[in-house]
Amino acid sequence: MIEISRQKPKFRFAPSPNGPLHLGHALSAILNHDMAAKAGGDFLLRIEDIDQTRCTPDFETGIYSDLSWLGLRWQEPVRRQSEHFPAYQEALQALIERGLVYPAFLTRGEVKARVTALESDGRPWPRDRDGTPLYPSDDRERSDAERRRLLASGMKHAWRLDMEKALAAACGPLHWQESGDGETSAIPADPAAWGDVVLSRSDAPSSYHLSVVVDDAVQGITHVVRGLDLFHATSIHRLLQTLLGLPEPLYHHHRLLLGSDGKKLSKSMGDTGIAEWRRQGLSPVELRRRICL
Ligand code: GLU
Repeated sequence: MIEISRQKPKFRFAPSPNGPLHLGHALSAILNHDMAAKAGGDFLLRIEDIDQTRCTPDFETGIYSDLSWLGLRWQEPVRRQSEHFPAYQEALQALIERGLVYPAFLTRGEVKARVTALESDGRPWPRDRDGTPLYPSDDRERSDAERRRLLASGMKHAWRLDMEKALAAACGPLHWQESGDGETSAIPADPAAWGDVVLSRSDAPSSYHLSVVVDDAVQGITHVVRGLDLFHATSIHRLLQTLLGLPEPLYHHHRLLLGSDGKKLSKSMGDTGIAEWRRQGLSPVELRRRICL
């Protein structure tokens, strides 16, 4: 059950056009659409295409076509992240000015080598919830003068959140409101488990985490309904919302659809693609039944 706030409820489906939509996306889109209708709210569509190396216009066209076939209608205009890089840059700049982010110069290979060296005494270096080693402290510990020198030399860099400083600036424990079966509960956020998360890369001016909180605020999203795979990422989103003074939406993380191998569906699994269902002549009603809606 989704609680209705006094503001007009706004839901969004936010796919990335980096592959064909599968049944898991259909579940998420339909849930958002139907919950918005039930709450008398709006259903918005956002195209999360910050990664310009993997997103293509064809996949984007496929999203519109699949969602229309499912019978979903969304409010125009669609927000395309690639058209809003200055908004993410502004948010990043605000964090830079408060000293809450730092330029990170280590390449992927250097991080790997550093972690191997750190683990040479047999003690494992901490990993985040996705199993990725936390970013080593080398860049965080650089002096301002050293940072300025490296930046002036034109060295490629990302911007990472200084988690310790960010937590201190957030002043106190963070929670988010999760709506479940008929009730809403406060979930303690644990952003520290993710270490110094990346907010912008040299090849992508914003990260998913930064853009998603900016966009949810700009679009006035009151209800974030998305898969359980993003449950723990919400910790980072609550921290960024707090640091940037952005409103807090209500969250609902829905069940995931699993493939026959027991794993989460992926965009490379053609047999579970919505387009494939359409090609086989199945109807949207049959698709809804297949995903137990
Ligand atoms: N773009 C993300 C995805 O396709 C969804 C992000 C979100 O709903 O917050 O998995």
